[in-house]
Amino acid sequence: MTRKYRIALIAHDQKKDDMVAFVTAHRPYLASCTLFATGTTGQRILEACPELDLTALKSGPLGGDQQIGALISEGMVDAVIFFVDPLTPMPHDVDVKALTRLAIVYDIPMALNLATGEILLKDKETG
Ligand code: PGA
Repeated sequence: MTRKYRIALIAHDQKKDDMVAFVTAHRPYLASCTLFATGTTGQRILEACPELDLTALKSGPLGGDQQIGALISEGMVDAVIFFVDPLTPMPHDVDVKALTRLAIVYDIPMALNLATGEILLKDKETG
């Protein structure tokens, strides 16, 4: 049996509606995955799609991004989809940078906007 694909999902506040729409659009495939999300993003996703196998971690500004970074370093995450808001200053900018760095270090796919997220999932859905 092949292992489930493990995806971390994160969205800044201005991008959460986009994330919920994205997850809903890919619901059948994502139902076959193991999902992790930062706290508020995870809550919003589970409200829309309660059947998903999703673990909600701490909220991003309270350490959720770092928790996902730790999961990457432990080999527990296969891909990150992070809808970043480029127009709003964040208190946890450094955590976002650290998470990006770990995705590069461990060479896992990381989508930072909707267009790349679509490519990433299309690759899995058709592959
Ligand atoms: P949140 O965190 O899902 O808890 O809002 C996301 C973030 O801002 O990194």
